[in-house]
Amino acid sequence: MTGTVAPANSLEKGYLDYQVDPTLDLFEEIEKLKKEKNAVILAHYYQEPDIQDIADYIGDSLGLSQQAAKTDADIIVFAGVHFMAETAKILSPHKKVLLPDLNAGCSLADTCPADQFALFKQKYPDHTVIMYVNSTADIKAMSDIVCTSTNAVQIVESLPKDEKIIFGPDKNLGAYVAKKTGRDMVLWQGSCMVHEIFSLEKITKLKNRHPEAEFIAHPECEDAVLKLADYIGSTTGLLKYAINSPKKEFIVATESGIIHQMQKAAPDKVFIPAPPNNNCACNDCPHMKLNTLEKLYLCMKYELPEVKMDEELIKKAVKPIERMLEISAKYGL
Ligand code: SF4
Repeated sequence: MTGTVAPANSLEKGYLDYQVDPTLDLFEEIEKLKKEKNAVILAHYYQEPDIQDIADYIGDSLGLSQQAAKTDADIIVFAGVHFMAETAKILSPHKKVLLPDLNAGCSLADTCPADQFALFKQKYPDHTVIMYVNSTADIKAMSDIVCTSTNAVQIVESLPKDEKIIFGPDKNLGAYVAKKTGRDMVLWQGSCMVHEIFSLEKITKLKNRHPEAEFIAHPECEDAVLKLADYIGSTTGLLKYAINSPKKEFIVATESGIIHQMQKAAPDKVFIPAPPNNNCACNDCPHMKLNTLEKLYLCMKYELPEVKMDEELIKKAVKPIERMLEISAKYGL
């Protein structure tokens, strides 16, 4: 089904910069558009609470990839960042994939440009490349297996012990996986701006003020922060842990958007965002937060911006993602 027509220059800013009638009930309008267009909204845990609440599926990168691979909707609206929408398009090439704001990039994916990674790879010709999903499609196309923070340890362990491995682009996740698996991996030195700026000093003070609280952290955090953690896990891992733990208070070191789901699932518990090394009290990903309910509504109404990809690139990038999905299924992840 085609959408309402938008002028040719409508995407100059990377999103539809139209005034939305403030009296509109956007929740109702978006629900209507979902039915009308047989669209599904996939939202990452780091999206603003309103977007999480209107989504059909909320999850982390692994869950979102699995959903993108199996949906029978005609349109996938991806409330997340660009590499995630690309992954959805790679897995569902015949579906229309929409991203509310094309500017929603990722500082981690940006640390690994394709030309530089190609030169790096040439230095290690006999290595298998395991690539964190937070990377561009060009980088995935140069990789052997994709992983997420949920399955990175299992993916590495699924390879023979003497297999030589390059792991990228996140050096902190790579170091954590190397420690967990005992594998000596060559690491690409990338990092995420959100997970790298947690303040060790402020976290220590917070732990002292809340001695009963458990400190839980995402493996994209630096090793010094992870050393303080009672539990380390992917965003979904942190959510499950917080729900199931008998403790009542948690200091959470990842993007603060996940706290919305934690609070919904366990309203009697207290979740404190771990503070970053700046004047903010919590840590938001500026890329994820570019998506708003208004942009989501406009993108569904006009079916723009659309994520389009070259067929050859899709063919190359799908292989390492499929290997990840196969290994994850084998491990019941
Ligand atoms: S939180 Fe970090 S890794 Fe995730 S999208 Fe934002 S910049 Fe990228």
